[in-house]
Amino acid sequence: MTFPDTRPEQAAAGPTADIDVLVVGAGVTGIYQLYRALQAGFSAQLLEAGGGVGGTWFWNRYPGARFDSESYTYAYLFSQELFEAWEWNEHFAEQPEIERYLNHVVDRFDLRRHMRFGAPVTSSTYDESSGMWTVVTDDGTEYRTRYFVAATGVLSVPYFPDVPGREDFRGESHHTGLWPTVPVDFAGKRVAVIGTGSSGVQIIPAIAGEVASLTVYQRSANWCTPLNNSPISPEEQARLRADFDAMCETLNTSASGFLHPIHDRQTFDDPIHQRLAFFESMWRSPGFSKLTSNYTDLTVNHAANALWCEFIAEKVRSIVRNPETAERLIPKDHLYAEKRPPFVTGYYETYNNPNVSLVDLKQTPMVRLTQSGIETSEGVREFDVIVWATGFDFGTGALARMGIRGRQDLALEEHWADGPKTFLGIQTAGFPNFFFPGGPHAAAGNNPRYNGDQVDFVTDTLIYLRDHGYDRIEVEVAAEERWTEMIDTGAVLSPFGESSYYFGSNIPGKPRKYLLNSGGRPKLFKEMRRVRDTEYEAFKLSRASDPAEATA
Ligand code: NAP
Repeated sequence: MTFPDTRPEQAAAGPTADIDVLVVGAGVTGIYQLYRALQAGFSAQLLEAGGGVGGTWFWNRYPGARFDSESYTYAYLFSQELFEAWEWNEHFAEQPEIERYLNHVVDRFDLRRHMRFGAPVTSSTYDESSGMWTVVTDDGTEYRTRYFVAATGVLSVPYFPDVPGREDFRGESHHTGLWPTVPVDFAGKRVAVIGTGSSGVQIIPAIAGEVASLTVYQRSANWCTPLNNSPISPEEQARLRADFDAMCETLNTSASGFLHPIHDRQTFDDPIHQRLAFFESMWRSPGFSKLTSNYTDLTVNHAANALWCEFIAEKVRSIVRNPETAERLIPKDHLYAEKRPPFVTGYYETYNNPNVSLVDLKQTPMVRLTQSGIETSEGVREFDVIVWATGFDFGTGALARMGIRGRQDLALEEHWADGPKTFLGIQTAGFPNFFFPGGPHAAAGNNPRYNGDQVDFVTDTLIYLRDHGYDRIEVEVAAEERWTEMIDTGAVLSPFGESSYYFGSNIPGKPRKYLLNSGGRPKLFKEMRRVRDTEYEAFKLSRASDPAEATA
């Protein structure tokens, strides 16, 4: 079965009447939000800037892009029939399969006619007298909606470093997060890749075999370990189906949203030979289990972490034949999981290809781009194609660029000038009827699991409002302050260091604030339950239609 990227069928370019729920973003979270809103009986529409379904999995279509969470744990679990109807080919699916899956979901639940593509939102304004939002797309089309849900994701605004001369380069340039829908022809080309985060280390081995030359510009090395992907055998497919309920139970009770079992030992519980054997089993284990199933003190005991790092460093030295290159590929500035660790397939091996070279930007900094290439302190190298794998404006990037104005014309980006302020990573004070599941401050781990929790919470909240005769909801300032303080003070409990983009540190001028939630999913669950148990005590509920309450 094949699905094209986009289908002619989509919503007309403008609503005929006011909408109950307007969703922005056709990624994993937005699709589920649209499905749940429609299923609950609300009128709903979805706007998407891209030309098709997928969100992050639409834009990040570079060669080698694939899940590093297990496919069936990242996928939707709300329908057992859907789960059984879609057989993933691999434990970690590649982007084309993911995009096909998301299109399958959209068509299976007849969602496409509620979606409009190529429709970036340029302004979103709250009207105090009616309690409605007016959302405008770049072609001037206006949508009036009661509830406005931005499912715009945390990794959706690509970051291009401000390198002098960036616009002067005359060859082809592509950002991994803005990859064109027509394939890029790398055959026989001189290619540069800038950046060695999760995206860079995926594309590098994927294109090395077809290019004439590949030059990797690395500023910081990362602790990369093997993804250990494999096809899903028929026996495994059958087991996945049979174990659906148990799998859901494990995922729904796991703090990080993975199936990986938690280990029962600390690093120094084991003598050295046993520890090395365990590290070897970790090295051979799938994806994130190196973090989630490793010794339990890995991220809290520096000496323990350093041993795991030394194990990885030895692996790098054993794979990469050129000792200088190997040393450059071994991080010296951070321990494992201080930054989000990437998972790789044949990455270190790539540096043994004679056509691949590594430039260490800490030793030879980038000076500028020229019309024909990249100049470092060492000189100029010429290229046909430059790939920017330089990351994203994480967490708040998209929300800050949609012209969102709440009460008294308050701009969201001003309200969040010192960092996001949220309750549950779902609402912010001064912006009634506005929700952003899948945004900053939610949890950490396998995103669709906790973003799905947030969508369920938003939808249940809208149902509650309808059932109780309300049509306006705004979080209390005190609740927002409490949650935001919990995020800010809890940041020290996070394994991630301030050098991680999870603190906004990759974007010049961005406030250094933790953008995830160290309390994780358990804290999110606990607080959501408390909201339900206290009948929404943390929120102001009112009727916008009641003039006495219009500006309450
Ligand atoms: P990233 O992790 O932020 O990496 C950006 C890279 O660009 C880093 O190596 C960074 O170096 C480099 N860089 C930034 N500015 C630079 C400059 N001025 N000069 C030279 N290098 C510069 O971004 P990403 O690789 O796109 O990954 C972002 C996130 O997307 C991942 O952490 C992950 O959550 C997600 N992702 C997931 C998958 C998956 O699930 N399979 C795949 C790809 C991405 P420094 O480290 O020195 O800043």
